[in-house]
Amino acid sequence: MHMPEPRLGSAVDVHTHLGERSAFSEFFLRGIINSVHESLPEADRDPSALALIARLAESSLRDEDGMRMLRAMDDAGIAHAVLLVVDFFYDDDDGEERLALVHEMHRRIVRRFPDRFTVFSGVDPRRGIAAQSILKAAFEQGCRGLKLYPPCGFEVDDDRLWPLYRLCQQHRFPILIHTGPSVPGMLVPTRFATALKRAATAFPEAPFILGHALVGDFDAHLELAASLNNVYLEISGFQTYGFGSDALVGLLQCAVERVPERVLFGSDWPLFNFQVSPRRWLEQLDGQRQRAGIGDAEWALVMQDNARSLLRLPASASDHSEHAPAAQGVHSR
Ligand SMILES: [Zn+2]
Repeated sequence: MHMPEPRLGSAVDVHTHLGERSAFSEFFLRGIINSVHESLPEADRDPSALALIARLAESSLRDEDGMRMLRAMDDAGIAHAVLLVVDFFYDDDDGEERLALVHEMHRRIVRRFPDRFTVFSGVDPRRGIAAQSILKAAFEQGCRGLKLYPPCGFEVDDDRLWPLYRLCQQHRFPILIHTGPSVPGMLVPTRFATALKRAATAFPEAPFILGHALVGDFDAHLELAASLNNVYLEISGFQTYGFGSDALVGLLQCAVERVPERVLFGSDWPLFNFQVSPRRWLEQLDGQRQRAGIGDAEWALVMQDNARSLLRLPASASDHSEHAPAAQGVHSR
C-alpha cells in the first residue's frame, strides 16, 4: 500500500512558548517540574529523579534567541510557530517591567525570523486599564493575537476582558485560551464553558482558540466549537495520552468530523519536550490520525491550512498545489 509522504516542512504550530526561563515565573516552573515528576511511573519517582528533572529543565530552558526551538522545528517539519507570551507576573512588584521585557524578547525573534514566528501578546486582565494599554502597544509593535491564562486567577467572561476582546475583534486577531487546570496552587476555573460561551457570543468576529481542547472536558469544548463558529479547538496536550492511545484516536476522529475547519495543531513546546523531541511527537500523532482514518486532505487542514487562514499567513512555499485536490479526490476539472 502506498503511504503518502507527510508534508514535512509545512506544518503550523499555533501553541508554543519560548523555552527560556526568564519568560516564566519561578512558581510556574516549579509546578511544571513537579508535574513532569508526577507523570513518571510510580517506581521511578524519588527525590533524585525530581532533582534530575529540575536540572534538565534549568539547562534546557535557555533559548532567549529561539535558535534551539528553530532547530527542533526544522527537524520536525514545522514551518511556522505561534509564540505565546503568558503574563505570570501580575503579583510581582516589578511585574509590568518583567512583562515588557518578555514581550521585547519575543519581538526580537519575530523581527529576525518573520516568516517562521508569530507572537501573541499575553496580559492578565486584572491589570485593568493597564492591560488595555499593554495589549494596544503590543499590537502596534507586531503581536497578532492574545494569550490568556485563566489559572492565574480569572474567568474568561471577566468584565475587564471585554475591552481586550474588543481590540482583538477590531484586528481579527485570535484569543488563545488555556483550558483546564494548571499546576497545583493555581485557580481551577469552574464555569469555563458558560463563561466562554458568553465571551464568544459577545464578540462573534473574534476567533477564540481553546488550548489543550482534547484534554479535560473535551465534550464541552467540542460542543462550544460545534455551536459557535468563532471557536477553535487546539490539540496540544495530546502528548498526555502517551504513545499509542486509543482514547486519542477517538478524540481526533470526533473533533475532525464535527469541525474539520476549526481544529488546529499545537505542541505546547517546550513543555512536552524535555525527553521527547517534537519530531517524535509528530510522528506519533500522525500514526494516531491514520488509525483514526483521517485522510491527508483533512489532516492538512489541522496541521496547517486552518492555521494559515486564521493567522493570514501565505500559503506554504513547500506545498505543491496539486497535492490538495488530488488528496481530496477532485479530478474532474
Ligand atoms: Zn501553553
